[in-house]
Amino acid sequence: MLIGIDDTDSNEGMCTTYLAALLADELKAFGTVSDFPYLVRLNPSIPYKTRGNAALGIEISLFDESLESKKELISFATNKIEEYADLSCEKTNPGAVFIFDEAYVSLRRPLNDFFKKAVTDVVEIEEAAAFLKSAESDFSNSVFHISMKNGRGLIGALAVCGAVLNPDWDATYEYLAYRLPKNWGSNGGPKRFVETESLILADKTTAPETWDTIDYDKKSKPFPVCVPGGNDPVLFGIRGDSSDAVLKAAKCVVSEEIERSRVFKTNQGTDAHLILAESFSDMLPLHSYLSKGTVSSKSETIEGGHDIFQIQDDYGNFLKCAAFEPTGDFRHIIRELIPGDEIRVCGSFKNETLNLEKIKILKLAEEFESVNPNCPICGKKTESAGVGQGFRCKKCKTKTESKAEVLIPRKISVGWYEVSPSARRHLSKPLIRYSKDELIS
Ligand code: ATP
Repeated sequence: MLIGIDDTDSNEGMCTTYLAALLADELKAFGTVSDFPYLVRLNPSIPYKTRGNAALGIEISLFDESLESKKELISFATNKIEEYADLSCEKTNPGAVFIFDEAYVSLRRPLNDFFKKAVTDVVEIEEAAAFLKSAESDFSNSVFHISMKNGRGLIGALAVCGAVLNPDWDATYEYLAYRLPKNWGSNGGPKRFVETESLILADKTTAPETWDTIDYDKKSKPFPVCVPGGNDPVLFGIRGDSSDAVLKAAKCVVSEEIERSRVFKTNQGTDAHLILAESFSDMLPLHSYLSKGTVSSKSETIEGGHDIFQIQDDYGNFLKCAAFEPTGDFRHIIRELIPGDEIRVCGSFKNETLNLEKIKILKLAEEFESVNPNCPICGKKTESAGVGQGFRCKKCKTKTESKAEVLIPRKISVGWYEVSPSARRHLSKPLIRYSKDELIS
């Protein structure tokens, strides 16, 4: 059977991954819990999210499949959600879905569609409620749900069930370590202690199989991206391509005492949120796209250090693109783009602007400048011979009528460029994960 949970946390504290880690430990009383709970990230542009729009799933092979035992498990999980969810927060609307084996085959495909939609598109609560109504009537003793407050969490809870039932997507892993409960706190709790040197060692030992542990782009000193700053229970998280890699990295880390830890199977770092847009006119707010265009205006740096420029597609549509201040050194590349450069862009479309996550420079335009010509005899730069009188070489006495056009060397080259690790969206695929073919295609 599987459980999908979402929307238990708030900005003040808690984290649904913690609840999943706790349930994965405590539900061992009911059956064999699969090694990796699922941590799927859904549409990153959804305004209801607290932080990273995560939904959590746990799969269990039950010891006792009787209806009584199923109900006992549901009640156990419900009590834990009630105990841990931050129900006082207006944005916290928990939902949980329980699907038992009898319904697996029939629900696999529709739940896969639901999962894909929740990652790329906007889903209404009514859609989740209608899905559950029909599934619960078709499988009366095999599908159950609980919801609190407006029940928006049911969207994520159903979506993660789709991910668990269709495990053929590009998967990555994250090791999450949690603080002792006495160290959490709505007032911040004691400052997290995770030794940066040990994180650098973890990174050096396991990269490129792990990524985004440290941000080396920060000017002053390496910044530990994997250590959050808020009130939630997470102490640090290591992301990687395999569970072995993240566990190996985690072993290097020196930190305060950990209450529990867990490796999650995730869709982080996979670009699952990107929709291919042939034309910019296809772009809708709250969606994320992969598209292509030609730079039509040079980037302007506006107040706050954000960079804005425009591109045009093959159909004549214009698109505003933004590289915000937190994207770091990425903006230095953006500032070097000139009209005529052909680029591929990835990002979320919001306020009529594509918020860039990465770009690929496909072709660089040629830029020329007019300079005094060189002397045809000695090759040295000529001087102006006076207004409208061309150019002359003092030494050889040669005369040239007009200025020469020379190619300005470009400071950037074709290829992919991405935002700094600290600005990366959970779903965005880091270039470190690209195969050689992907890097050149
Ligand atoms: P954290 O990352 O700390 O776990 P969060 O950012 O995951 O927090 P939630 O508290 O889970 O935020 O809130 C996100 C809400 O948006 C949930 O109720 C979820 O069901 C809902 N949601 C997720 N994806 C979509 C979608 N595509 N369309 C509409 N609602 C969605």
